[in-house]
Amino acid sequence: MGDLICLSVPNFCGNERKYVDEAIDTEWVSTAGQFIGQFEEKMAVELDVAQACACQSGSAGLHLCLRHFGIGPGDLVLVPTLTFIATINAVMYQSAEPVFFDCDNHMCINVDQIEQYLTYECRLAGNQTIEIASGKVVKAIIPVHVFGDLCDMERLMQIAERYHLYVIEDATESLGGTFQRGPYAGKCPGTVGHAGVLSFNGNKIITTGGGGMVVSNDQEAIAHMRYLSQQAKNDAMYFVHDEYGYNYRMTNLQAALGLAQLEHLKDFLTIKRRNYSLYQERLKTCDYGGLLQFGSEETANYWFYSFALHEPDTAKRDRLIRYMNDQNIQVRPIWKLNHTQTPFRHYRAMECRNAERFYSCVVNVPCSTNLTVEQVDRVCRTLLSFERLR
Ligand SMILES: *Cc1c(COP(=O)(O)O)cnc(C)c1O
Repeated sequence: MGDLICLSVPNFCGNERKYVDEAIDTEWVSTAGQFIGQFEEKMAVELDVAQACACQSGSAGLHLCLRHFGIGPGDLVLVPTLTFIATINAVMYQSAEPVFFDCDNHMCINVDQIEQYLTYECRLAGNQTIEIASGKVVKAIIPVHVFGDLCDMERLMQIAERYHLYVIEDATESLGGTFQRGPYAGKCPGTVGHAGVLSFNGNKIITTGGGGMVVSNDQEAIAHMRYLSQQAKNDAMYFVHDEYGYNYRMTNLQAALGLAQLEHLKDFLTIKRRNYSLYQERLKTCDYGGLLQFGSEETANYWFYSFALHEPDTAKRDRLIRYMNDQNIQVRPIWKLNHTQTPFRHYRAMECRNAERFYSCVVNVPCSTNLTVEQVDRVCRTLLSFERLR
């Protein structure tokens, strides 16, 4: 059996150690230090966005956004069921309530369904949108650019404007991508909505160990979130706080890693695309499944690769996962759908047929940026041999 091939692991091949050493040597390791501001500035330039606020995680970033935009107890937030649970948890931290939506044919939130819900189940009252059945206020949408594929932001922004909703982009999986068409062509995911959130968790395209960032063109919003992320401390001396805040600020150690990683983003994108094409090429002859395409083909970051069975079949999916894992190749199913998770079961969910289909046929396959051509070959050979097994 070959060596273990991991699903998605960090790739440290540049100045990581140098910058981290510098942080340690200067003793600036905590939530102050020059790397934090530098990382924010470099990222803002990279994404062509006005402001960025570095924080402890993508989850913290999402929470800061919801808090800043005044989403509170009983407010409704429209979310996809097909996402990592962190998206929904942020809604819970504010005691708001998720409303779950299906995805489209590319795993991103189903905009048609959102429009139908708002048109037929809600009413406009001045500057507010009220869900008729409950009388609750719909405050925001959190579109998630799942696995690096991109949501239809043009339509989402039009709908959000019509219904006075905040749009908080969960761009935790899509760093490096750009929108291809329409009014946002050339813009980066996370910079179209009222705010966007990045993640630098260990499995993301670049990592700070754990970390995140909120980006926005709204300077006041970012300034407020930065304030909240530092316990809402008014100044460096007198311990005066005008609001309650959080200990969410990124550390200088994390930012040191982030700066070094950002220097490789372009190379990482090239490798992600190369390996995706290799997979596609090698799996052409596979007759029970294949790689899902990205809707935004030319401009996605190709963060995660999804191998899909041609027919939804959860038992077969699980057999495939066990088979691959037994061959020392790490693969996994996509997330258990959030509207079926214990803490969220009693919230409203639309019909989620597409998400259910993806759930029962998709297996994520290794996609690290240090994956070699030989390793991709081995994964593909093993996938093909599962077919011959039966
Ligand atoms: C990674 C991720 C998050 C959370 O990011 P953390 O930095 O791990 O807190 C949120 N949403 C999605 C879709 C993610 O993939």
